Amino acid sequence: MSNEREIYEPSPESSTGSWAENWEALRDHAAHDLEGYWAERASELVWSKPWDRVIDDSNKPFFKWFVGGETNIVTNAVDRHITGPRKNKLALLWRSEDNRETRTFSYFSLNREVVKMANILKAMGVQKGDRVTIYLPRIPEVVFAMLACAKLGAVHSVVFAGFSADALSSRIDDSESKLVITADGSWINGNVFPLKDIVDDAVRFSPTVENVIVVRRTGSEVHMDNTRDHWYHDLESLPIARGACETVQLDSEHPLYILYTSGSTGKPKAILHTHGGYMVGTYTTLKHTFDIREEDRFWCTADAGWVTGHSYVVYGPLLTGATTFMYEGGPTYPHPDRWWELIEHYGITTFYTAPTAIRSLMRFGDAWVNRHDLSSLRLLGSVGEPINPAAWEWFYDVVGGGKAPIMDTWWQTETGMFQITGVPAMPQKPGSAGMPVFGQDAEIVDEHGHPVPDGTEGFLTLKNPWPAMARTLYKDDQRFIDTYWSTYPGRYMTGDSAKRDEDGYFWIIGRTDDVIKVSGHRLGTAEVEAATNSHRAVSESAAIGIPHEVKGNAIHSYVVLNQGYSGDRDLIEELRAHIAQHLSPIAKPDDIEFVDKLPKTRSGKIMRRVLRARALGQDEGDLSTLDE
Ligand code: ATP
Ligand code: MG
Repeated sequence: MSNEREIYEPSPESSTGSWAENWEALRDHAAHDLEGYWAERASELVWSKPWDRVIDDSNKPFFKWFVGGETNIVTNAVDRHITGPRKNKLALLWRSEDNRETRTFSYFSLNREVVKMANILKAMGVQKGDRVTIYLPRIPEVVFAMLACAKLGAVHSVVFAGFSADALSSRIDDSESKLVITADGSWINGNVFPLKDIVDDAVRFSPTVENVIVVRRTGSEVHMDNTRDHWYHDLESLPIARGACETVQLDSEHPLYILYTSGSTGKPKAILHTHGGYMVGTYTTLKHTFDIREEDRFWCTADAGWVTGHSYVVYGPLLTGATTFMYEGGPTYPHPDRWWELIEHYGITTFYTAPTAIRSLMRFGDAWVNRHDLSSLRLLGSVGEPINPAAWEWFYDVVGGGKAPIMDTWWQTETGMFQITGVPAMPQKPGSAGMPVFGQDAEIVDEHGHPVPDGTEGFLTLKNPWPAMARTLYKDDQRFIDTYWSTYPGRYMTGDSAKRDEDGYFWIIGRTDDVIKVSGHRLGTAEVEAATNSHRAVSESAAIGIPHEVKGNAIHSYVVLNQGYSGDRDLIEELRAHIAQHLSPIAKPDDIEFVDKLPKTRSGKIMRRVLRARALGQDEGDLSTLDE
């Protein structure tokens, strides 16, 4: 189980010369002079007009950053690189699911592709402030489309290309998109997923969509409506696609994108991010935490449909001038070593993924990893859920060969950038996300908003504003205030529960809604699941609380077993004893059910609210993001 005292000291190779080698000094600087610290970070980037003020907090919680300044995130993610030594450097490296096709883009050619797409969007009437929905698989065009929108000052809304027509249509309508960019289909485990058919269904009654651009990917038969639909490869060869395209200089606070959250706790929320602050925040946090170096090949496995894909597949890596790697497929097709094969083949140096993927790969055993040379790996990362210590250790030892520190990054769609994480020079504690990023001050409070002592669990709040903070919920300022800023006035409420240890490390316990109160004791789902998952038979598990007359709540656990184990009565008893021993007898589940899989969001998070609703025979709520 998580052991707060277990510490992994950074190796000299991972810390010496890293951007945040003097992390304590950076932290102190930011703590004493928040505006000065961020002004210094922002000065590392290009602005066509300097800002007058770093932070404007006159209308809280609607903070403004770099007020009066003008720039465009594309000026810094693309344009500034092609006038210097990075012109011929690889910006984007892509591999197909069938493992036969590689596409590579230098910064120079990335710019050419973005200019081309921006010219086409412009010709279709897309203007500054217009919304564009992007429904594309993991192919380079998703990057071009996002950057093309940003270049023109249009607002992109990327919808994960796995959502149903209903989910897509509600997001298109809510954002009032003029244009949808999609593909004929996508490859999923060797089969075609019919993206264009889904778009057809979704836009049939849409009052706002004027045009649909279709990228050819799978070559499957699709219906094209000749008044609305256009093949991208036809548009590309038209005169409208040619010529230069200016990167529109925008006010810092001009919207960059809207993005719907993953819906773990309810109906997805439409988060709005802007150019200036988001740019500075993603640039800085990626540089510090993943210590981006010129020779790096950075691979974040997230889909562009999630915030992790926005901040750390597309914007962050390009802002830092890194080489970002994108793989079209998933981790276990056709074999559970596809990712390891790619790391070896491309010499990936930095590998950033999610606990759900780590656990699912761990299930297949070490041999799949060990047949590959992963010695290029210098840093590892985790995001999305608390990483249980058993998975942490496997990732560290087996994948990272015991030499690559794991950056466990806690953040949210709303925060835009990391909030609690380590840097390579900081000692690590398996299962802890680390400490607040420089300039942040996180505090654990009780229900009245009073700080709790170290070691006590409570509600995680953020005290300082940060540049990449969400500006609002699209078209719903009131819900923005109510959801995040009213419970503890003056603080941002994260909705997660956590505790801080004596060394100042933060341990995320789970979502507030997921805390289970048993006989007066509060148990985090993460703790119960970590204890369960540390048993050799268990691949992953989910714990929920069910009302109980005597105890208040009783724990019910759903367990997915590793290959080669069968769930019987003996195993149930063994697991209960194991949990009692490794966490507490109070945490012993009343009921353990073996299942083949757990309900998850499309981004891979366990949807405990769905398990709870099912167990109680209640309405399951918004299921638009459920992966079934
Ligand atoms: P919704 O807000 O619609 O319920 P969501 O919260 O799952 O969806 P995201 O913004 O993608 O949508 O996820 C943020 C949440 O993910 C955090 O609040 C936290 O619960 C969890 N999380 C992210 N990173 C970590 C991490 N490193 N450790 C623990 N939990 C994490
Ligand atoms: Mg959330």
